[in-house]
Amino acid sequence: MNKAAFLDRDGVITEDPPHYAHRVDQVRIIPGSGEAIRLLNEWGYLVIVVSNQSGIARGYYQERDVALFNEEMKRQLSLEGAHIDAIYYCPHHPDGSIEKYREVCTCRKPQPGMIIQAAKQHQINLKTSFLIGDKFSDIVAGNAVNCRTIFVLTGHGKDEMHHLNGSTVPVAENLLDAVKKYVI
Ligand SMILES: [Mg+2]
Ligand SMILES: [Zn+2]
Repeated sequence: MNKAAFLDRDGVITEDPPHYAHRVDQVRIIPGSGEAIRLLNEWGYLVIVVSNQSGIARGYYQERDVALFNEEMKRQLSLEGAHIDAIYYCPHHPDGSIEKYREVCTCRKPQPGMIIQAAKQHQINLKTSFLIGDKFSDIVAGNAVNCRTIFVLTGHGKDEMHHLNGSTVPVAENLLDAVKKYVI
């Protein structure tokens, strides 16, 4: 069985804002994220991105844009010796304007569908895995499948932090801080 680090994309690996980033020129790696992912690679974690992309259902951009954005993100990360093993994204939204993607799905976080699918496809032991996110919905998804979860203050983190009230989830400044402090 493998262990994995499930990473949210927007606000964890790449800068958010811009919200609904989808153009290649909007790919900006948050400082330290490359080093963090390289460390996870070295420590034997599969690095798997799990990302809500409701901008597709909302008609803001298309699946092809997500693919190009992700390729550019991977290219920039590779310059820092960092490797992403797989990327999952949810294109849906229950109120989307694009009918093809308008649905109440099981992959949109806080639902854990993407994590469950990745775990099956990559033989992942969720108990030895981590999920790192900047929204409360990320943490809910990770907790639903008994992953260890880490909350980061980049992206939407500072605005979302009040949702954590009473929760024991560890909080880190950014992805690199999260990896260095809490991933073992
Ligand atoms: Mg995010
Ligand atoms: Zn979905």
